[in-house]
Amino acid sequence: MEMGAGLVKTMSLAAGRLGVGLLDLAYPPTCLACGAPTARHAALCAQCFVAQRPITRPFCPRLGLPFERDPGPGAMSTAAMVEPPPFRSARAALVYNDMARKVVARMKYGDHPELARYCARLMHAAGAEFWADAPVLVPVPMHRARLWRRHFNQALEIARELSRITGCPVETGLVRRDRPTRAQVGLSGRGRRRNLQGAFVADKAVSQRLGGRPVLLIDDVVTTGATARAVTLALNRVGLHNIDVLSFARVVVGAETPI
Ligand SMILES: [Zn+2]
Repeated sequence: MEMGAGLVKTMSLAAGRLGVGLLDLAYPPTCLACGAPTARHAALCAQCFVAQRPITRPFCPRLGLPFERDPGPGAMSTAAMVEPPPFRSARAALVYNDMARKVVARMKYGDHPELARYCARLMHAAGAEFWADAPVLVPVPMHRARLWRRHFNQALEIARELSRITGCPVETGLVRRDRPTRAQVGLSGRGRRRNLQGAFVADKAVSQRLGGRPVLLIDDVVTTGATARAVTLALNRVGLHNIDVLSFARVVVGAETPI
């Protein structure tokens, strides 16, 4: 049944009195993470809101992994000491749990710019210490084959939103994924590193243009950190050494990690 213009107008007036726009009638607002109905657009439902697990201090200054108890100033995580990362530091907004997984899944397979905006807002706060250095934002690249299937790189979408907030430029020509890698799911840390060896190539000319400006790698989820390490090593090879990592979510061993 088609709605007549008169009916639309009546609905619009009624909606206006209720404080909702006609847009809300055509596209009812839904939760960013689970798709349940919400009162406002681009918001989370109450359940998903409380399910967010922000990573707050105390955390490891190198890897950004949260500590259960405060080990005192400067104390590093065992992971950072056993295998010091090639990047300076990594930060993430949320612990990767079921709620964060839903956000990332929706972002991967649908065109939802409001999701990238939500991720960027949280990451802007989580990466507060980076902005004073005005870093270049480099989204972790996806291989063309995968890009084709998924239509877009969510790390790039997030980087663009972060650029809007911070004014830091996005640089997509600096590093590319040279060969498709096996899906990382199910691989151990060592397996992931082997899988990624030589997967990333950095561009010397772009690196020279940046002239040693700090680089902030942007990704949606950091799992073991193997990807961030591989990209950093590729950047090191073209003379870039001030690299940090900022992600929306981070897998924390011992936390709820549904993969
Ligand atoms: Zn929800």
